[in-house]
Amino acid sequence: MAESKVRKTAATAVASKTPSPESHLALVRRARKINRVLAETYPYAHPELDFDNPFQLLVATVLSAQTTDLRVNQTTPALFAKYPGPEAMAAAAPEELEELIRPTGFFRNKAKSLIGLSIALRDEFGGEVPRTLEQMVTLPGVGRKTANVVLGNAYGVPGITVDTHFGRLARRFGWTTEEDPVAVEAAVAELFPKSEWTMLSHRVVFHGRRICHARKPACGVCPVAPLCPSYGEGETDPEKAAKLLKYELGGQPGQRLRPPADYPGTAAAPGALSQATESATGRVE
Ligand code: SF4
Repeated sequence: MAESKVRKTAATAVASKTPSPESHLALVRRARKINRVLAETYPYAHPELDFDNPFQLLVATVLSAQTTDLRVNQTTPALFAKYPGPEAMAAAAPEELEELIRPTGFFRNKAKSLIGLSIALRDEFGGEVPRTLEQMVTLPGVGRKTANVVLGNAYGVPGITVDTHFGRLARRFGWTTEEDPVAVEAAVAELFPKSEWTMLSHRVVFHGRRICHARKPACGVCPVAPLCPSYGEGETDPEKAAKLLKYELGGQPGQRLRPPADYPGTAAAPGALSQATESATGRVE
């Protein structure tokens, strides 16, 4: 979305306190309006992990815990060159696998999960990533979040992916007060048709990374502002808020080395991490 459009929309924000208490019907309507605004703002929203097949997405998602998607994208090309599928990864020497994934942090645990899930895929699922949540979560190191990412983006099975951004924004939007990711997932699922779940997840995460940041939300340039009960939690001055924008909205590279063709920003570099992608704590903003 052009910055001028973002500014204009935010400038029209009403003094945005949502009437309280809000009926369930009003909440559903407002939530769906927010989703429509996000869809207009990020028509190109996509998973920010590079992958070519379900196995690669599964591995990349396991690696993405406690690090940036960019760090994972910079790590996986060499990893998949050496271990292209479950057979090869199941037979990996742990210390060699650990060395390759070391930049993503927690590499010993992650290596154990990757070898364990590769063995399970090889021995129990014929070398294929399963297509149901129930089967997915039996794999070592795979929880609901990882399973929903893979099912939604590799197999087109609708799923809500509650990561740190999604949980934070769902609460700021007033969609739920829950803190537990499973409870957030259940509450948000009530508000939207299944067919929207996967793209909604991408749009909300895109918004959290680009505008509604954890510590400094750019409320003054936020297109959702008229619908958001948390307007004012961040910078409301449009000029100051515009300086907080990240990735394509802020003129910085994205997280993917190989973004989709319709991504309006620039691809990430295979090398150094940019300031836009990591906060001081190393978490994705
Ligand atoms: S808190 Fe601010 S930046 Fe976040 S969605 Fe609400 S208005 Fe937008």
